[in-house]
Amino acid sequence: MHEDIEKVLIAEEVIEKRLDLIAEKIRIDFANQESLQVVAILKGALVFMADLLRRVPLKLEIECLNVASYHGGTESSGVVDFLDAKLPDVKGRSILLLDDILDTGRTLEAVSKKLIDLGAADVKTCVLLTKDKERPVAVEADYSAFEIGDEFVVGYGLDYDGKYRNLPYVGVLKPSEINL
Ligand code: 5GP
Ligand code: MG
Repeated sequence: MHEDIEKVLIAEEVIEKRLDLIAEKIRIDFANQESLQVVAILKGALVFMADLLRRVPLKLEIECLNVASYHGGTESSGVVDFLDAKLPDVKGRSILLLDDILDTGRTLEAVSKKLIDLGAADVKTCVLLTKDKERPVAVEADYSAFEIGDEFVVGYGLDYDGKYRNLPYVGVLKPSEINL
C-alpha cells in the first residue's frame, strides 16, 4: 500500500497534535451540552471520528450516516444520496457533524440541511481537511484540522476506489495508480 503513495502530505504525528487542539476546542464549546450528538458521515469520517472523539472527554452519542457523493473516480459528482433506510432521530439536538473533507461543500450542505429537516436544533460541522478552492456552495466548516491544496488525497479515512482508508497519514497517490 505505502508503495503507491507519491508523497505524504500530512504525517501521522502532525495529525495527532492537531486533533488534540480541535478536541480541546470542541470540549470547551460543547461543555454545556448534557450529551453531545455526533453525526459522522461514512465511510470517510471513520478514522477521523475514532481518533478525534477519544480525545473529547464529554458525554456524547454517535450516529453514522451513509452518504454517497463520490462515485469511484477522483471528481465529486455533486449528487448526494442518503443510503440509510432509517435516518437518526435528531429532534431538538445540537449536532456536531463530522466528515473527512470539505471539497465542493455539497455533502456538508446537503447533510446539514437534512439534519435540520429532521428537526435538529443546530448543526456545527467539523472536517479533517478543507480544500483551498472556490466552491459552488458557500459552506465553511466550524472546525477544520488542515487546509490543503486542490488535489486528490487518500488516507486517514479517505479512499481511492475503496482502498487506502487505513493509511495512517494523508497522502497523494502516484499517477500510475489512478485509472482515468
Ligand atoms: P464535497 O465535494 O461534497 O465537499 O465532498 C464530497 C466527498 O468527496 C467527501 O466527503 C469525500 O468523501 C470525497 N472527496 C472530496 N475530495 C476528496 C479527495 O481529495 N480524496 C478523496 N479520497 N475523497 C475526496
Ligand atoms: Mg465522504
